[in-house]
Amino acid sequence: GKIIFNGEIKSRTDVKVDIEDRGYQFGDGVYEVIRVYNGELFAGDMHLNRLMDSAKLIQMKVPFTVAEIETRVKELISEDQLQEGIIYMQLTRGVSPRTHAFPTSDVEPVFVAYTKEIPYAGRLKPGAKGITTDDIRWLRCNIKSLNLLGNIMAKQVAVEAGCDEAIQHRDGLVTEGSSSNVSIVVDGTLKTHPASNLILNGITRQVMLKLCADHDIPYVEEAFTIEEMMAAEEVLYTSTSVEITPIITIDGQKIAAGAPGPVTERLQQLFADEIERQCGS
Ligand code: PLP
Repeated sequence: GKIIFNGEIKSRTDVKVDIEDRGYQFGDGVYEVIRVYNGELFAGDMHLNRLMDSAKLIQMKVPFTVAEIETRVKELISEDQLQEGIIYMQLTRGVSPRTHAFPTSDVEPVFVAYTKEIPYAGRLKPGAKGITTDDIRWLRCNIKSLNLLGNIMAKQVAVEAGCDEAIQHRDGLVTEGSSSNVSIVVDGTLKTHPASNLILNGITRQVMLKLCADHDIPYVEEAFTIEEMMAAEEVLYTSTSVEITPIITIDGQKIAAGAPGPVTERLQQLFADEIERQCGS
């Protein structure tokens, strides 16, 4: 396959990571994952703007504009003839002798992007299993940072318990999944953690809330407790890769009847329509 390396499209085998790349040594960088349906970017602008926001929040200058990245990424999709899949992209603070402080301003960030095919498995996902775990991460979870140790440790808890996702909490208040946002439905109202420093403001979350607003599905952006979640009518999680997926058991206990609920199914349908609207079918 091909990759974008800085401004150019190259063969993957022609590019090597320097041992003093700050992304490699410190996780000093930011990233994005954009879904491609039918060869088209889904919510591409929102993802690219979030990449810029993440870079800004770590005081990293991006040597490209959103439009420049978008042009390159579209070239890459066509080079790779990608129909269904993702684009992974990352920006690190560049290559410089190892020291914690930022390198001097002449050091250019390193940008890499490549595609991965994901065969499309149908839009209405069956129910997933969740497990609660302590949120051990830092306090800038709004930055899509390459530092993912806390997220990785949480996901491993889920995997070892035979679950699909770890639901993180701080002192009993649910924040988000290890690589997703979590919402509940109480009295027909969707509830999800506000977009604060304690969560990544997921693009899927934002698209879903817009769909709620446009289709008169009541929602509130408020944190909820584990107890509220366990007693909820529905629990769901959202991300670029899982889209909108119901969670039907948590910590081995069924949520309501232990089956996907009507609000989740309605949102899944609306989300599928939105994909079709943006990317065609
Ligand atoms: N929260 C975390 C920690 C994530 O890593 C992700 C994305 O993978 C999300 C939420 C969901 O974000 P998005 O919907 O933009 O993929």
